Amino acid sequence: MLEGDKPREKCGVVGIATDNASLAPSYLYYSLRALQHRGQESAGMAVEGKKIKCIKDLGLVSDVFDPKTMKKLKGKAGIGHVYYSQKLSKPENAQPHVISTSVGEIALGHNGIIVNAEELKRGLRIKGHVFLKGTEEEAMAYIIADEMQRSNDILKAIKVLMRNMLGSYTLTMLYEGRVFGIRDPYGIRPLCVGKMKDGHAVVSESVALDVLEAEPLGDVQPGEVVELTPNGVESHQMITKNRKAHCFFEYVYFARADSVIEGRNVYEVRERAGSRCAKEHPVDADVVIPIPDSGRSHAYGFSHEADLPMIEGLMKNRYIGRTFIMPDQESRDISVREKVNPIVNVIKGKRVVLVDDSIVRGTTMTRIVQAVKGAGAKEVHVRIGSPPLITPCYLGIDMTTRERFLANAKTMDDIRDTLTADSIGYISVDGVVDAIGLPKGDLCLGCVTGKYPLDIPSEMHRFQKLIDDYEEEDES
Ligand code: SF4
Repeated sequence: MLEGDKPREKCGVVGIATDNASLAPSYLYYSLRALQHRGQESAGMAVEGKKIKCIKDLGLVSDVFDPKTMKKLKGKAGIGHVYYSQKLSKPENAQPHVISTSVGEIALGHNGIIVNAEELKRGLRIKGHVFLKGTEEEAMAYIIADEMQRSNDILKAIKVLMRNMLGSYTLTMLYEGRVFGIRDPYGIRPLCVGKMKDGHAVVSESVALDVLEAEPLGDVQPGEVVELTPNGVESHQMITKNRKAHCFFEYVYFARADSVIEGRNVYEVRERAGSRCAKEHPVDADVVIPIPDSGRSHAYGFSHEADLPMIEGLMKNRYIGRTFIMPDQESRDISVREKVNPIVNVIKGKRVVLVDDSIVRGTTMTRIVQAVKGAGAKEVHVRIGSPPLITPCYLGIDMTTRERFLANAKTMDDIRDTLTADSIGYISVDGVVDAIGLPKGDLCLGCVTGKYPLDIPSEMHRFQKLIDDYEEEDES
């Protein structure tokens, strides 16, 4: 939906190995464009060579790479990355990071958060490592390099890395022309592999395989490392946990509806969630209106189950691009109307059900409810395809702190009144789990239950608070 009132995904990753001497960069380009929804802040590629060639910058994939830039990149193997940074966008934050180590250059693209990163960095500094940028990826490269010094075995070095890192990570890595895809032992963020006509790809979401016309070979398993070659995919199961923890929010909001994650098509999950929400929270109404575009798949399911027509009563302006947060209330209201405008002729006099996938702070939804009422709706009911978000995500998704969640410490009546709606209904936790169709124990539901699959160090809580304070200043 609209910026500022939605959680933001932080990254998409890609790795390519092909036997065509010049095509890896083109494959990276198209697959990164297919993953653009996972990060619009920066884009980058690192391609094999005597020295790894890396081009990255702030902007969309199509801003960073044009035909002239692409001519500078040639190779059979490479990795790519799209990034969403929480703030203070700087070109140096763009990934992949290419790190010079004692065993040569290692390029890494990372989606996720390492919750014990500070501890790892402290340990590496004690061992004498000097951090140039202080990134998590630099720490990863030094851990790999240290193990390589001992064993000269890259797979063993990756295993040591995985044993030491706590958190969520899908990584693509380029080392001496070899391409690896690495998924954390809980499988929190998605990663899958596919076979192209002249090679193999590992990508955050299957839509990036579709664009490469690659045959999907399945998800990289939690704790698994895959090495891609033009001719095959070698699998190494490095760590096995007694549970998985796939992020349920990938299904509800982040992933593209045409992606397939763990064998579940995201669109179908959303449709089922909408249908379940209609069963759990029936309402007498005339029409169902999706919040464009995030609520559309849920709204189809809701409208079908409730036997109500779905209409496009809110029109989204797709061409205004990125905006910044306006300082005054009046401008903020204009900014919402600039992006989503109600169609008076189809709304006037109707009892409307507004359907969206999630609500974080609720500010945008409140303005939309008021705009729909202003367009003459008799009643406005809000239905949400995920359970109330009550605690932050510490595992790779940018959300606000607990205090600023709409649903934090509020009753449903309070939420309804805050939104100025006539009624509110969120799908239950069990409802969304059923819609996804995976066992509850295979999902991370941390932000809706407060129970995370792994311990979150207290310094992570402080970090999230700092970010939120910064945002507060930003908006004041
Ligand atoms: S806490 Fe929520 S957003 Fe974060 S990984 Fe878990 S389910 Fe996903």
